[in-house]
Amino acid sequence: MNSVTVGSGPNGLAAAITLAQAGWEARVLEAQPTLGGGARSMELTLPGFVHDHCSAIHPLAIGSPFFRDLPLHVYGLEWVHSKYPLAHPLDDGTAAVLHRSIEQTEAGLKEDGIAYGNLMRPLVAQWEALANEFLQPLLHVSYRPFLMARFGLLALRSAAGLASRCFRQEPARALFAGLAAHSMIPLEAPASAAIALVLGIFGHAVGWPLPRGGASRISEALAEHLRALGGAIETGRKVTSLDHLPKTDAIFLDTSVWQAAELAGKRISPGLRHKLAAFPHGPSIFKIDYALDRRIPWKAPECGDAATVHLGGTLAEIAFAEREVARGRVPVRPFLLLAQPTICDPTRAPAGQHTAWAYCHIPRSNNADMTQAIEAQIERFAPGFGRCILARHISRPQSLQAANASLDGGDISGGACDLWHLLARPSLSANPYRLGRTHLYLCSSSTPPGGGVHGMCGYHAARQALSVLGRG
Ligand SMILES: Cc1cc2nc3c(=O)[nH]c(=O)nc-3n(C[C@H](O)[C@H](O)[C@H](O)COP(=O)(O)OP(=O)(O)OC[C@H]3O[C@@H](n4cnc5c(N)ncnc54)[C@H](O)[C@@H]3O)c2cc1C
Repeated sequence: MNSVTVGSGPNGLAAAITLAQAGWEARVLEAQPTLGGGARSMELTLPGFVHDHCSAIHPLAIGSPFFRDLPLHVYGLEWVHSKYPLAHPLDDGTAAVLHRSIEQTEAGLKEDGIAYGNLMRPLVAQWEALANEFLQPLLHVSYRPFLMARFGLLALRSAAGLASRCFRQEPARALFAGLAAHSMIPLEAPASAAIALVLGIFGHAVGWPLPRGGASRISEALAEHLRALGGAIETGRKVTSLDHLPKTDAIFLDTSVWQAAELAGKRISPGLRHKLAAFPHGPSIFKIDYALDRRIPWKAPECGDAATVHLGGTLAEIAFAEREVARGRVPVRPFLLLAQPTICDPTRAPAGQHTAWAYCHIPRSNNADMTQAIEAQIERFAPGFGRCILARHISRPQSLQAANASLDGGDISGGACDLWHLLARPSLSANPYRLGRTHLYLCSSSTPPGGGVHGMCGYHAARQALSVLGRG
């Protein structure tokens, strides 16, 4: 049996590896000159400064049930951890900290410590079973129905509601809000608590590490493993029509759902094509990569020891910023995700110098220049940041799409991530990967379980094909 995969993001490579493991011929065609999609690193600012073009922090990769079974360390993948997975500074100069240890996190959250422990400890204790359950289509027969029911009762709530009910003080509320804002949906929306719980669980269970040398190391290790299994990858091969592909038993599309609709064309029914093309977009992002001549001068010292820092202040402020985005307005004080990899991986910059990236959410395809708003938020918690900047590289929605066609209009999640569109991704089905009754499979983050570097969309899509074709 043979297969072609269009796109070499983590999900495309995961699909190809799963097929190669089953003895298939697996060929991957990648449009860009370098492989890896959202897991790539490059010199974006100055010589010697290696930046992650998209993903930087990888709790979902180190905890991925699929990646964990692959010998990626043999191909040079080495995880490094900062002292703390995450810090969240507040205006009084303190920071809420997510430690690896639940006990230390509890101690830091003082009055809310016990409530935090009560919320997280039972979930962290069962993290592997939970990860297996939620990193697959939500519509499935659960092997752990009671565990999933317990998780679901919390995860289906709104982040703002759950944080306000569980916690009395701002540090714990803000910490939870920052985790939830990764979802890119309003914090009042049903199920906005889910991503906060998942990221918190992974933070305690496996950490929020980064690969030494840059995110490309994940893709390179996956690619090397695929080649070792007999697979092949061709870069600089943009697929514009499936008619140009050789005859094959199955085609996997590691593309956005909208590109999949176009490429599939008349091979799928008009109804399905319309459904895919009409899948709603998520918001866009505006990102800045920095080359810095020193560490960021954080007011709260804990921020200097956390590779990820969430900037946005209180729960109310973060919720307001995310509501603005959902209403199509550019937030004046946006919520920022900031990564500072060189605090624990000095290989990415010249000695003593540093890299960082920060991005915020903006309405879809918006052209706003968020540089000042982003840097004002960083200065708020790290006065003097501006004086550390040697160079910056700005990525707007359009430039993100130019570097990876799957980032359609700057949507980094493969489409909307509200509860309904996580359930019906791209349509409501227990087998959402196969496009109709064809030999086409969508395997990107536009399928369950959605965005992030974990390879689980690709793995499940390939498993579905193996089962359809009787080789599973
Ligand atoms: C700025 C940013 C920051 C992020 N940060 C994180 C993070 O810290 N941690 C995390 O886990 N996730 C993060 N993500 C999300 C993560 O990068 C994605 O969810 C993940 O890469 C999705 O993988 P994928 O394989 O589905 O698609 P992609 O990684 O997007 O790969 C798709 C590939 O398909 C190729 N392609 C598309 N169309 C064609 C075509 N017609 N012909 C040939 N090739 C084609 C593209 O060039 C690309 O290489 C971030 C994303 C962005 C944009």
